[in-house]
Amino acid sequence: MRKPIVMGNWKLNGTKQSVADLIKAFVEPANQAFGKAEVAICAPAIFIGSVEQYAQGSKLQWGSEDCDIHDSGAYTGENSPAMLKEFGCTYAIVGHSERRGYHHESNEEVAAKFKAAQNQGLIPVLCIGESEAEFEAQKTMDVVKAELKAVIDLCGIAAFKQAVIAYEPIWAIGTGKTATPEIAQSVHSQIREYLKSFDAEVAAGVRILYGGSCNAKTAPELFSQQDIDGGLIGGASLKAPDFTAIINAAVANA
Ligand code: PEP
Repeated sequence: MRKPIVMGNWKLNGTKQSVADLIKAFVEPANQAFGKAEVAICAPAIFIGSVEQYAQGSKLQWGSEDCDIHDSGAYTGENSPAMLKEFGCTYAIVGHSERRGYHHESNEEVAAKFKAAQNQGLIPVLCIGESEAEFEAQKTMDVVKAELKAVIDLCGIAAFKQAVIAYEPIWAIGTGKTATPEIAQSVHSQIREYLKSFDAEVAAGVRILYGGSCNAKTAPELFSQQDIDGGLIGGASLKAPDFTAIINAAVANA
């Protein structure tokens, strides 16, 4: 039985005040969801200490939007998995398409981040997904398999026992174009099939979140799909009523 996760990704958004307001608003829904669904917020690194302060003692979990591959050293501007762990992070997103795109992160670099996160006891949330052109050229599975294979090659298939996958079609992120439940389910089940070719138990157990303009309206049907184990939520995680409704959708489908 896979417990769904509703995970917010705040990206480059927030103020001291909005962090306080949103985390306080999410604590109760997260506590109520506990046992049926997990709730987490991945925040800009500068706010993680505040998230820890407001969420501590509740069932709301938190994480980072990225991490470096090193634990310390001369890497100006980076945040290490060791630092994130010290601030109570459970999760570290790695390979978000905005990092892959704007920061030219390769599949190999993302795999190294996945490994570095796990080495410090963080749970990597590996983002994978195709561009619109790749979707139209029916290259979705080629793209996501290559993204997964880089991690399998470096870390081994068993590493997915302590990881989460987020399938995020790039054409759906921040565009308002959610993948239909049928499209998302089909990709999620093919991802599971691919992992099954390495290890059936790992494939059956790993949680695969959907991300890409998932909102209060679309979440119920997306979350009712067999291979969709919750969502990675961008824009809607910055609005308390919307994110709460998405949490409730996950609980209803758990
Ligand atoms: C994301 O950034 O991971 C995401 C899914 O964004 P949005 O929900 O805004 O499309």
